[in-house]
Amino acid sequence: MEEKEMNLEETEVNELDELKKSLLAEKKDIFAEMTTEKIDAAYEYAKGYMQFLDNGKTERECVYEAEKMLKAEGFKPYTFGMKVAAGEKYYYNNRAKSFVAFVVGTESLENGVYFTASHIDSPRIDLKQHPLYETEGIGYLKTHYYGGIKKYQWTAIPLALHGAVTKRNGETVDVIIGEDPTDPVFYISDLLPHLASKQMSKTLSEGIGGEQLNLISGARPYSDKAEKDAVKLNVMKLLNDKYGIVEADFLCAELSAVPAFTARDVGLDRSLIASYGHDDRVCSYPSLTALVDVKAPKHTIMAVLADKEEIGSEGNTGMQSQVYFDIIAELAKSFGVSDAVVRANSKCLSSDVNAAFDPNFPEPMEKMNSCYVNGGVVITKYTGARGKSGSNDASAEFCGYVRDVLDEAGVIWQTGELGKVDAGGGGTVAKYIASKNIDVIDLGVPVLSMHSPYELVSKVDVYMTHLAIKAFFEA
Ligand code: MN
Ligand code: MN
Repeated sequence: MEEKEMNLEETEVNELDELKKSLLAEKKDIFAEMTTEKIDAAYEYAKGYMQFLDNGKTERECVYEAEKMLKAEGFKPYTFGMKVAAGEKYYYNNRAKSFVAFVVGTESLENGVYFTASHIDSPRIDLKQHPLYETEGIGYLKTHYYGGIKKYQWTAIPLALHGAVTKRNGETVDVIIGEDPTDPVFYISDLLPHLASKQMSKTLSEGIGGEQLNLISGARPYSDKAEKDAVKLNVMKLLNDKYGIVEADFLCAELSAVPAFTARDVGLDRSLIASYGHDDRVCSYPSLTALVDVKAPKHTIMAVLADKEEIGSEGNTGMQSQVYFDIIAELAKSFGVSDAVVRANSKCLSSDVNAAFDPNFPEPMEKMNSCYVNGGVVITKYTGARGKSGSNDASAEFCGYVRDVLDEAGVIWQTGELGKVDAGGGGTVAKYIASKNIDVIDLGVPVLSMHSPYELVSKVDVYMTHLAIKAFFEA
């Protein structure tokens, strides 16, 4: 009698488990799901990514790296009006600041282009057009920050100067100072705590002002004579010696101060990567590696690396530029099919980062709907602020499509929402793609300390993003 009852209870427990399993969602443990070989592959993959980060600290440098990488894989430069054929691989360098690469599929182009859109610009400190001055014997460069930053984070750290200057003769020279370990770096000073009682009582956003982000560029006068502007003159002379530029050339320059740090493993287990500019090179690099990995795709597949996302996707190199859709239209023309039909059947992953839940700062996060470090690639159905305003909000059907693709490929994924309702918000390039009648959803890597000079991501999450994009390209 007693034994029978126990069996009944066991059956009930099993049924309950079955029911739970079939009805309730379960969170996957990425390290339990991944084999040791796969985790090793993720660590190996991270090495290539970290090299990409160190070589590409501006959109120009990322374009250069992408071009180098794809040329080595047999991609050829694309020009408008070209006749293309299945299996051919091309890249398009848009003004050295944004980049498109694609592989022509074996199926009709009318079935759509499957593409990713990520961005290769990151928050930074740009030089103003008249940057050069000295005061109290210290040489400075005036700046205007680019993108959303917490200004206080950019003081008292080593900064490198990157960019390009167009000289009077029309020649454009590339500038990099502060990356070689023997190079000098630039520096923004902060107030010592002893005298900062007034500053410390201000809010974090007011503690360092925009006009205080002045880069120290030198402190020694030309010919060691303390004449007026002799430090400024010396700085200009040194720049002239190295790059042949004069002060008036700053008017025609793109010069940015970025952290002089290199990407480093974080944690004794080396499971994390700290670097400047994960947002959004952490999605741009996997887009390129996935594009290279997929041989003979059915659909035409494409990776777009856009510029100016951090300031609203503006300009002719930002995602709002027509150039990306002109390329699709030119491809349609090459096959004699309708551009509108191609776009209507196209699918896109707006590949951008999301904010990972930070146990150190749980307050603005909603635990149930945040994404997590080591949770896998994150799908973000909607972004926006104050009632989803400014969001693409992907359809149930397209979410379902992407879920099936990822599940079939064994990709570990999670969903994420950017913080609590009304805690703030943000946006991505997704809406600019959706407006061209293309199905699009955000997908990318969870990031800690986003938009700081040294952001943090997990190696397995980065690798899952590569696998996710690869699966999407292979679908
Ligand atoms: Mn960003
Ligand atoms: Mn981003």
